[in-house]
Amino acid sequence: MARILSALGVADKAFNGGDLKVCSPVDGAVIGMVPQHKTSDVEKAIKVSQAAFEQWKTVPAPVRGEFVRLLGMELRTVKDDLGRLVTLECGKILSEGLGEVQEMIDICDFAVGLSRQLYGLTIQSERPGHHMRETWHPLGTVGVITAFNFPVAVWAWNAALAFVCGDPVIWKPSEKTPLTAIACQAVFDRAVKAFRAAGHTIPDGLNQVLVGGRDVGRALVEHHDVPLVSATGSVPMGRAVAEVVAKRLGRSLLELGGNNAMIVAPSADLDMAVRAILFGAVGTAGQRCTSLRRLIVHESVRDRLLESLTKAYGSLRVGNPLETGTLVGPLIDEASFTAMQSALKNAGAQGGKVLVGGDRVSDGIMGGGYYVRPALVSMPGQSDVVKQETFAPILYVMTYKDMKDAVALQNGVPQGLSSCIFTMDVREAESFLSAAGSDCGIANVNIGPSGAEIGGAFGGEKETGGGRESGSDAWKTYMRRQTQTVNYSSALPLAQGVVFDL
Ligand code: NAD
Repeated sequence: MARILSALGVADKAFNGGDLKVCSPVDGAVIGMVPQHKTSDVEKAIKVSQAAFEQWKTVPAPVRGEFVRLLGMELRTVKDDLGRLVTLECGKILSEGLGEVQEMIDICDFAVGLSRQLYGLTIQSERPGHHMRETWHPLGTVGVITAFNFPVAVWAWNAALAFVCGDPVIWKPSEKTPLTAIACQAVFDRAVKAFRAAGHTIPDGLNQVLVGGRDVGRALVEHHDVPLVSATGSVPMGRAVAEVVAKRLGRSLLELGGNNAMIVAPSADLDMAVRAILFGAVGTAGQRCTSLRRLIVHESVRDRLLESLTKAYGSLRVGNPLETGTLVGPLIDEASFTAMQSALKNAGAQGGKVLVGGDRVSDGIMGGGYYVRPALVSMPGQSDVVKQETFAPILYVMTYKDMKDAVALQNGVPQGLSSCIFTMDVREAESFLSAAGSDCGIANVNIGPSGAEIGGAFGGEKETGGGRESGSDAWKTYMRRQTQTVNYSSALPLAQGVVFDL
């Protein structure tokens, strides 16, 4: 651990001697005692950020893009170490840890291209000798609050866009994963150095990390000098943040819980569906916002599908996420294990039957990690427990006869993040993607619900919060829109033909 942190350029004092104890979910070992910020530090950070904004907003966007290009280059050089640190701190398997860093590199590339675009509009004016246009300007400090399960990528999704849009960032990472955030700040600092060495000017404090719990997050959210709060986490967190930001009429971008489903139609390629189900439901030990949690399968293919799935679940390797061949790493902590057990108990009380898994794995497992065998649970219907997001590898299986009922089940939960259908029938596929189909922010055909590419806008509807990050035009949330009208005539006509002459 100390070797990785030192390779990433993290100073010893940044992870030793503090009062925030960080435990690795891999074996429960203490991997850091991190100094925390106090709520009073938030005010100071915002002052620094505002000063940074005054300068950064005047730097041409393509030059800001050059900085993000250098950030992407730095990330390439640390991919292996940072990916390993992600695995050690949040427990996802190494290939997913590395994939998370790749996502950071990808969003930097995307943002570099964007820095030469950030397109506005020209609009036809109704008045002679006038023209109108719409221009996008930098917004100001972006407060970024992140969850434990994507400890670095979510910062990059926000930060890479914010930087090219001309905004500074203050990042409050999850209190469960501060080390990866501190490491990202070290990588960021090296990009700043390289940018300055190339003769560019960049303000201090363009990115700041505030380590702490909810109180620090809340102080950031409450502050009127943070025009945008981008918050990723649970629905209760999002509700709390949304209320505070709305009260001061700020802007929030919310990326909250999901309860994602797959519909498996009679014509589906079942081999492909099984592979997609496995990655979706057990990848990251069921701790992705896009994890597959509900399987809605046509009654004619249920038995065949479940036979293959039960077999596949039985051969999943659960264990050390750093070892090649492991597909399921640990849950983040004991509370997560308890929540999983309680959901399974409730499922039983609501008529469910555990087909496979759900138990704690201890064979060949190191010390204090919470490892579980992913659970496949047959449910008689979409009862309360199925409508909740339990952040663990539980897949509830329900059947349908008619596609209309399947879509109603898919849409019949409070969350609206990701969804998918496996079918070879073009009518079914297109109906699922139509206005009468999935109500989610993400809808896929013959692909599972998780593992989105950064080119698309990412986010969901209903209790998932409505925010969009990453690709497409998500950048617009990080800027302010200005409608401009210019009169190049010698007359002063009013809009709508209003006459107001002396
Ligand atoms: P969490 O809600 O417990 O914490 C997330 C972050 O919010 C942490 O940094 C925490 O300190 C902070 N926080 C909590 N309450 C706050 C408050 N009142 N004010 C300000 N900050 C506050 O979530 P978690 O357990 O870390 O992550 C799991 C959850 O995140 C799941 O529900 C998952 O679906 C969701 N998630 C969503 C997405 C998405 O893009 N939609 C991505 C990743 C995770």
